[in-house]
Amino acid sequence: MSTIGIDDLPIRDELRGKTPYGAPQLDVPVQLNTNENPYELPEPLVRRIAERVADAARTLNRYPDRDAVELRTELAKYLTRTGKHPVALENVWAANGSNEVLQQLLQTFGGPGRTAIGFEPSYSMHALIARGTGTGWISGPRREDFTIDVEAAERAIAEHAPDVVFITSPNNPTGTAVEAETVLALYEAAQAAKPSLVVVDEAYVEFSHRDSLLPLIEGRPHLVVSRTMSKAFGAAGLRLGYLAAHPAVVDAVQLVRLPYHLSAVTQATALAALEHTDTLLGYVEQLKAERDRLVTELRALGYEVTESDANFIQFGKFEDSHTAWQKILDQGVLVRDNGVPGRLRVTAGTPAENDAFLEAVRALKKEQQ
Ligand code: PMP
Repeated sequence: MSTIGIDDLPIRDELRGKTPYGAPQLDVPVQLNTNENPYELPEPLVRRIAERVADAARTLNRYPDRDAVELRTELAKYLTRTGKHPVALENVWAANGSNEVLQQLLQTFGGPGRTAIGFEPSYSMHALIARGTGTGWISGPRREDFTIDVEAAERAIAEHAPDVVFITSPNNPTGTAVEAETVLALYEAAQAAKPSLVVVDEAYVEFSHRDSLLPLIEGRPHLVVSRTMSKAFGAAGLRLGYLAAHPAVVDAVQLVRLPYHLSAVTQATALAALEHTDTLLGYVEQLKAERDRLVTELRALGYEVTESDANFIQFGKFEDSHTAWQKILDQGVLVRDNGVPGRLRVTAGTPAENDAFLEAVRALKKEQQ
């Protein structure tokens, strides 16, 4: 047996001693830890996917449409219909999950000698994708209540003049959406400092009480809105993310995308899912109602809950969040410890899953009293 490990390999220095990203995938009855949609795809959609994929299979000897024109056209129609802003094919780009979209943006606008900033705690992959693309990472501030302090954020942007600014709305793991005025103020600060690319990560926006920030791309060529089919469309396994921006941004990311990055199977499956948008958005409404029920019940139990516009909720406070996480897990419910001191995050599941979660935290509360 060889005893050679990662650190014996000539890997890049900044990767030395690091561990791969990933939430535990434990086999427990109630899994509320990765912000997935708990509803399986409806049968008519499953059948439609099979049909579309069968059609695609007949020509798998050929490379897929490199520019994914049909899919981007349908995504543009979806954004136009739901985002209160007309979006065309030229404004939309798609990739394997919004993580790949973000990676392509950092490969294009970040990279060695450049920096990106995010306001933390936020989606930890922003920093990790920055590292993977050789982009320096700057951890920007947030208030105690987890909202963005606009003045402090403007100061950080002016001081560091980053090349890329990440704003996550609704924010993960805290759940709260960002106001349009905040995005506009940070966009202005970023343009004055550099100018830099501002990426609004709207992975969870369909669950928000507020409208999408999509209309802000009008007249702002350095503003990008990033979206995904992993959450609202209940298709995390599909791996389909997309962005909307000025057509020049869409042209720019094509400088770094791998040719034929979106397989014909992925494109066919995503197109089938988009045909069933209305049914899938119906599940979103159910999840929003369940999210609001969880917020109310957690508060009634005496937990501190951060305002949520997403399909998950940050709650606490715990003296030791890891012990609390373990005790909830001992009752068969897996939630997420994101490393935010004293807090845990739970994804809204089906009514039965949410009841099991509430039962577990009720028991935990009793034990702590
Ligand atoms: N952005 C945010 C804020 C997320 O929480 C996630 C998934 N957890 C993603 C992007 C990436 O999602 P995907 O690659 O599945 O589109």
